Amino acid sequence: MFPCGWRSRWALKRLTVSVEPNSSKSADGLERHVVCSELVNRITKLQRRHRVVIVGAGFGGLAAAKALRSLAVEVVLVDERNHHTFQPLLYQVATAGLDADDVTYATRGIFHRQRNATVVIGSVTGVDFDERLVDLDDGRRLAYDHLILAPGAVTHTFGVPGVAEHAFGLKSVRDAVEIRSHVLACVERADGDPLRIEDGLLNIVVVGGGPTGVELAGGLAELFSRVLRRDFPGIDLRQARIVLVEATDRVLRTFDPKLSRRATRSLERLGVEVVLGTAVREVAAHHIDLGDAGRIPCRTTIWAAGVTPAPLVERLGLERGPGGRIVVGPDLTVPGRSEVFAIGDAAASLAADGAVLPQVAPVAIQGARHVAAVVEAHLRAEAPPPFRYVDKGSMATIGRLSAVAELPGGRRLSGPPGWIAWLALHLVMLVGFRNRLNVLTNWAWNYLTYDRASRIVIDPPGEVLRNRGEERRR
Ligand SMILES: Cc1cc2nc3c(=O)[nH]c(=O)nc-3n(C[C@H](O)[C@H](O)[C@H](O)COP(=O)(O)OP(=O)(O)OC[C@H]3O[C@@H](n4cnc5c(N)ncnc54)[C@H](O)[C@@H]3O)c2cc1C
Repeated sequence: MFPCGWRSRWALKRLTVSVEPNSSKSADGLERHVVCSELVNRITKLQRRHRVVIVGAGFGGLAAAKALRSLAVEVVLVDERNHHTFQPLLYQVATAGLDADDVTYATRGIFHRQRNATVVIGSVTGVDFDERLVDLDDGRRLAYDHLILAPGAVTHTFGVPGVAEHAFGLKSVRDAVEIRSHVLACVERADGDPLRIEDGLLNIVVVGGGPTGVELAGGLAELFSRVLRRDFPGIDLRQARIVLVEATDRVLRTFDPKLSRRATRSLERLGVEVVLGTAVREVAAHHIDLGDAGRIPCRTTIWAAGVTPAPLVERLGLERGPGGRIVVGPDLTVPGRSEVFAIGDAAASLAADGAVLPQVAPVAIQGARHVAAVVEAHLRAEAPPPFRYVDKGSMATIGRLSAVAELPGGRRLSGPPGWIAWLALHLVMLVGFRNRLNVLTNWAWNYLTYDRASRIVIDPPGEVLRNRGEERRR
């Protein structure tokens, strides 16, 4: 029998959530570890508090863990990365406006004051729903009483040939830094050999006219026209083409058509070529094929055309709905499992009118707060409330002093008022005071000086291009 003092409970909790597999990594060691971990899970289940395991420390996972702060539960937050990423500002990292550190925050740091929360870094490989165990890639098994699945989404290639091999996605801070390094390395290369500009060395094609594509295209156009122009006086950067390709007949399709037109005009004023009603046929290393609209020679294609649930979702064997997202009921539980929830980009949660909610941060955050309320209702043996999403509007920025915003009640903003609203909202939503201060300082610096502080290419530019097959090793 295990003693029940707080020291032993603490030790058991540590064992359950952070025991490492045998360092020899032998199959035997791993098996012993799994058996040991399962035993500990079973024994501690008798002693531990009600445990809520959350998979994913994105917008949904963080909000859920915080909303469970005051409940008498143990919260275990699992993520394969050790940091939370503020995805809405990734495009500013890609366009040299912000540092990678400004849009990320160490997850352990977010929760060090929340006494009922433990952070586990590891990749979830599956869930045994009958035994209520979450499997990690290193062999650990985490027992749960409630499980919240919030693994988010990854770039969706739609099966277009060449996207996986030749295009950049923009889902992680690594993607953003890779785009920045590649674009800057191409400009360095053009500075050394200006004749290559004619082959499309400086052309950039952004695919997808949603908020991410629009923001990225606008940010790149400003980077070239206002910042790099001064760094590279020896080459004519007006030869660089920034092209935004959208399959439907307007950008920002989910916004009012008037705002879409304003956004298109603002992009064109910045020098972006907006190509509408055109689907990409193929992405190659040195061009993009737009079918009837022709080929554009380019070395940089950025795929911002859509997302699909994280690979874990396919492995879970749960019922999936539109876009491959996990089907959930009105209380966000998965069918037949009242103790398992899915939220955020990975879930197909529904609005009151039955429409599938978009894959945006407010849906993940509101879903997270709702499941915390359902967990509380379960603990009190009360009927859980249904999920009601409150649409607080959408926004997209196009560049300096230019943004469009659609607010509740049909109000719309554009130009400088929209831009200020966009800046304020993103500052408020960022995690951590240090990040807010850094972002505010960077924005003020960029605004006043037309400069962008983060134009660092960590590896030698030649190596960056060689790694993508752009240059031969001499
Ligand atoms: C470039 C970009 C710009 C955006 N701009 C906006 C915007 O302006 N406004 C807006 O509302 N929304 C925006 N979005 C969408 C918004 O970021 C998402 O809707 C939101 O992040 C979804 O939250 P989530 O918690 O479901 O997933 P995420 O925030 O993506 O978090 C998922 C987490 O799960 C982890 N994970 C995945 N698989 C595993 C696994 N197997 N094991 C362990 N951990 C795992 C990931 O590491 C990640 O930390 C943007 C998205 C992108 C990519």
